Amino acid sequence: MKAVCWFGKHDVRVENVPDPQILNSRDAIIKITTTAICGSDLHLYNGYIPTMEAGDILGHEFMGEVVETGAGVTNLKKGDRVVVPFTISCGACFFCERALWSLCDNSNPKPEMLETLEGYSGSALFGYSHMYGGFAGGQAEYVRVPFADVGPLKIPDGLEDEQVLFLSDIFPTGYMAAENCNIQQGDSVAVWGAGPVGQFAVKSAFLLGAEKVFVIDHIPERLELAERENPNVITINFDTEEVYEKLRDLTGGRGPDSCIDAVGLEAHGTSPDAILDRVKAAVYLATDRPHALRQAIFCCRKGGTVSVPGVYGGFLDKFNFGAAFGKGLTFKMGQTHMHKYMPPLLEAIQEGKIDPTFVISHRLNLDEAPDAYKNFNEDKNTWRKVVLKP
Ligand code: NAD
Ligand code: ZN
Repeated sequence: MKAVCWFGKHDVRVENVPDPQILNSRDAIIKITTTAICGSDLHLYNGYIPTMEAGDILGHEFMGEVVETGAGVTNLKKGDRVVVPFTISCGACFFCERALWSLCDNSNPKPEMLETLEGYSGSALFGYSHMYGGFAGGQAEYVRVPFADVGPLKIPDGLEDEQVLFLSDIFPTGYMAAENCNIQQGDSVAVWGAGPVGQFAVKSAFLLGAEKVFVIDHIPERLELAERENPNVITINFDTEEVYEKLRDLTGGRGPDSCIDAVGLEAHGTSPDAILDRVKAAVYLATDRPHALRQAIFCCRKGGTVSVPGVYGGFLDKFNFGAAFGKGLTFKMGQTHMHKYMPPLLEAIQEGKIDPTFVISHRLNLDEAPDAYKNFNEDKNTWRKVVLKP
């Protein structure tokens, strides 16, 4: 089959690779009908996530048709259309039982690396390095889905692939980021990053009852999209406006009740801390560039919540923990507990409360993936969300 494979920093190729096989009784093989490139994939493309190996198949946002099931998968049958969550969960461990799906204890067959780095390993992920299990991803013609009796969500007739594809990751991720803010009536929420995750966080914050939502970025097209999609949102361009001052003014001098970091470890900025991050990351003295997170902590009101869907990989430099402590902040973060959010968010799509297709900027063939990665990485004004068809 054809698959999008990682060969090194800025080196992604479409290769012919062996078709996936059923290895365990709870596996299913899915024929991919639509897949997408995620902002998280750029962290791999830019070489920020260790333990990738040449030839690894990329992709964790995908959906398709069941073509084969193992003996232990009784809830799916050949021909079912499914969306697959990017996190792999067994459904039966201590964590899955508590709906902490992305912290599954059983799905990562190579937990040693994350145990060394983090104490304990979370769940495995599709197409996201060997420390997350080394599972082949779904930017391919076929994929093997482990624990297929637990993860894949069946899609009823009448919904197009594009309407439901983002249930695989970014819609639940933006939603959980907003839910983690525990939004109360009258609350204000500031969202750093107007990428797809930030866009879903903005929409979700409004859905969950926020009164004011602010979104911060420096890509004009992305800020304009947020305005088109959300009549009440207030945008802040950090290239031309003072983020802290503006947020303080917009909240009566108090600061936003919640701050969402939908940027993650590759934040841009021109302040001294951001420049130092860039230099240190370039010479491998730092793992992450956490400028947006520092700013979110600084801007948040006393007693507020900082919610972090943006991905971080290692040890953060000059982390203003004193500010977080001094203001009594609450932190919420992590990989999304996908399985918890997929069914209710599918319902929200069916009820017409949200149409996730608004984030798509490009529809391409799987063969065009190498160019798509390059362009998406270099030009975020034109490129926002790439959907690929095998
Ligand atoms: P993206 O790269 O398309 O968007 C990131 C946006 O942040 C860009 O528009 C960029 O201009 C903006 N940005 C950069 N520096 C900024 C700053 N200092 N202040 C404000 N905005 C800034 O990515 P995406 O697909 O929207 O994903 C966003 C983050 O969410 C990534 O880190 C991704 O890995 C992460 N993610 C996490 C999960 C999860 O389970 N927690 C799931 C999916 C994605
Ligand atoms: Zn993703």
